[in-house]
Amino acid sequence: MATVSRGVVLRAFGQPLTLEEAEVPQPEPGALVAEVTYGGVCGTDVHLHHGNLPIPTPVILGHEAVGRVWKLGPGVERDFTGAPLREGDTVAWASGIPCGHCYWCVIERERTLCADRKVYGINQRFDVWPHLSGGWADYVYLQPGSAVFRLPDGVPPEHAIALGCAGPTAVHGVLERIGVGVGETVVVQGSGPVGMAAAMYAHLAGAARVILVGGPASRLDLAREIGVGDVHVDIFATPDPEERIRTVLDETPGRRGADAVLECAGVPAAVAEGFEMARRNGRYLVLGQYTDRGPTAINPHVVTRKQLTVLGSWAFAESHYGRYLRSLPQLASRFALDRLLTTYPLADANRALADVAGGQVMKAVLRPAGAAR
Ligand SMILES: [Zn+2]
Ligand SMILES: [Zn+2]
Repeated sequence: MATVSRGVVLRAFGQPLTLEEAEVPQPEPGALVAEVTYGGVCGTDVHLHHGNLPIPTPVILGHEAVGRVWKLGPGVERDFTGAPLREGDTVAWASGIPCGHCYWCVIERERTLCADRKVYGINQRFDVWPHLSGGWADYVYLQPGSAVFRLPDGVPPEHAIALGCAGPTAVHGVLERIGVGVGETVVVQGSGPVGMAAAMYAHLAGAARVILVGGPASRLDLAREIGVGDVHVDIFATPDPEERIRTVLDETPGRRGADAVLECAGVPAAVAEGFEMARRNGRYLVLGQYTDRGPTAINPHVVTRKQLTVLGSWAFAESHYGRYLRSLPQLASRFALDRLLTTYPLADANRALADVAGGQVMKAVLRPAGAAR
């Protein structure tokens, strides 16, 4: 008898998501089907729901997820790292499948910039076979070419989903693009999942001091409680940007400014403010501007005068995802990752999305029935 999966479908922008059903396909050679344990809800999902990004519909949302192998397709014996893969193994997978042969994939070797990237939960239509291409479902069909990783031993699925796509995004931006060194002073602008992940990796990379600038207070309290950030600046308690800049500079060696400033706020005005928090000859990373929220005023003289290095970082590739999963035991030994999670039944996806939109929770995750079995 055929197995049927529920999935949370976005049919029309701005309208409530609907719980629909589709038959679970048998995996073709090179593919596998996973039973979803958790599907993460991300700020990007809020923007997708509002129609701020041009995506095809209908689509099952969920670009970040973790699950268990339900059925392996013919020929699938190993995960992306070459480790043996069996039915029942706990796995996570990179959301994107780059084409592997475009200019960006081959010549630039920047697979995150692939012009023809398939992305689970974003651009794979629900009304096109294999239908189940998003993580907000009981089952997800992982196509040939997917970067599927068996979780390292001792890593529970809760840890793998706690940062969602912010984890590998921070690996790419913080560890690979801008780099953080031992003894450095680092400012992180933003205390959502991307800011939390960036601050965690700055700590792990050896920063002497991490100054977390964000809000609301509940998020900063959580950060403090789990040891993320050494100094916390509440943007709501200190609404004047000039005062925030002074407060941050007071916390840097010689009031010279931070060695590196990591923008994880997603607010355009944060960039001009962040330039002022960096030291001369410092580095600035624009990591949080995933949605086009329009232009903002900056003074380019600051970049020249301070001799700033300003970098961007777009999403993540399979390599960053693998590095993120490998780092989970280290992250979990230092930070209580479970504390980030708020769990919802799959049928409550609309409520979870609203809570993420309102900033009520740090990390909302949907739990299909599979997790309880
Ligand atoms: Zn995301
Ligand atoms: Zn490509």
